Amino acid sequence: MLAPFENNLPKPETFDAEALAAGIIRWVEFETPSDRPDLIELLLDHVVESFAGLPITVERIPGRNGCGGQLVLHYAPAGAVGAPALLMGHIDTVWDAGTLEKRPVRYEGDRIYGPGIFDMKAGSFLATEALRRIAAAGIVPPRPITVYLNGDEEIGSITSRAKIEELAAAAAFVLVPEPSFEAPGTLITARKGWGRFRLTARGVSAHAGGNLFDGRSAILEIARHIVEIEALNETETAATFNVGTVNGGTRANVVPDFAAIDVDMRANDMETAERHIAAMLARTAKGKDITLEVEGGLNRPPFQRSGAVVKLYEATCELGRELGLELGETTRGGVSDGNFAAALGKPVLDGLGCNGAGAHALHEHILFSTIAPRAALFHAMLTSAAFNERALG
Ligand SMILES: [Zn+2]
Repeated sequence: MLAPFENNLPKPETFDAEALAAGIIRWVEFETPSDRPDLIELLLDHVVESFAGLPITVERIPGRNGCGGQLVLHYAPAGAVGAPALLMGHIDTVWDAGTLEKRPVRYEGDRIYGPGIFDMKAGSFLATEALRRIAAAGIVPPRPITVYLNGDEEIGSITSRAKIEELAAAAAFVLVPEPSFEAPGTLITARKGWGRFRLTARGVSAHAGGNLFDGRSAILEIARHIVEIEALNETETAATFNVGTVNGGTRANVVPDFAAIDVDMRANDMETAERHIAAMLARTAKGKDITLEVEGGLNRPPFQRSGAVVKLYEATCELGRELGLELGETTRGGVSDGNFAAALGKPVLDGLGCNGAGAHALHEHILFSTIAPRAALFHAMLTSAAFNERALG
């Protein structure tokens, strides 16, 4: 018999949604585009200040190579045992500094609009705030809690990946408060893997009128590959391909000696991803006297719906019912840092942020009514011993 859930878990209606919304908006007002590590530091300063005087270990990792910094907050009071629960979010956004001036935060009914609020300041704030409140109240959780914030997710987690993998490897389970896209309460239990490639063809230039047949067209070469790569979408069911950019040539009367494309690949599972990566890297020039160079590979491994993921998801649904929350699940083509954790075989649950819409779009917003339910869910997942047992036992 599993222990029943603790009957003193605070219900969503006991959370002060107005104060939480104010905290979220405060984070949104720190503009944090991925290419401004200096601005990302200011938000991290603000976060660290909010933990002043609390029994939390703070580790700050400065930004490097033009990428934003990272922050690790760790709470391990006496009595909290075993591997930590890891909450992992990003604080960088796709919005340039100055966007707020043009599109300030505004309410419209249940919606709160703001650049980066949905992806994913709201979720990262709620995860961080859950830890802050637990530590401030002196609650001893069943296991230690780690909150990790990175500043380069939107540009591929280039400098943070190693830290993400180190923390995930040490964690009991990983919670990712990326936005929830569908009906309120929809969690993410799988994401596709993401690969990127650049194909560059080099041929021989010539005069289109004078000596056309001495030329070797790099554009023709690249066009053949475009058609083949796009055609994979007709037969492959576990992966998709998009030729997203094409560059080449100089003038209409010059046989082009250069052309290049960028290709995006999404794959449902590792076997499919590896098969297509090998095929892509093995591409060779089709035309005479042409060279073809292929670079790229997997940026994020697939986040597969493993048994460990399902167990964590089901325990969360059951906990949700205790709190009066209707939860559901979905899969996404877009990636997150959860992909790295899931590839290590860890139980990962994603989409724990607020519901809303418009990631990377002008209509980006969250639903105010989903703030308190998510806050209650985080609090319960981190403090309920029975939940921990169900999720991992
Ligand atoms: Zn995101």
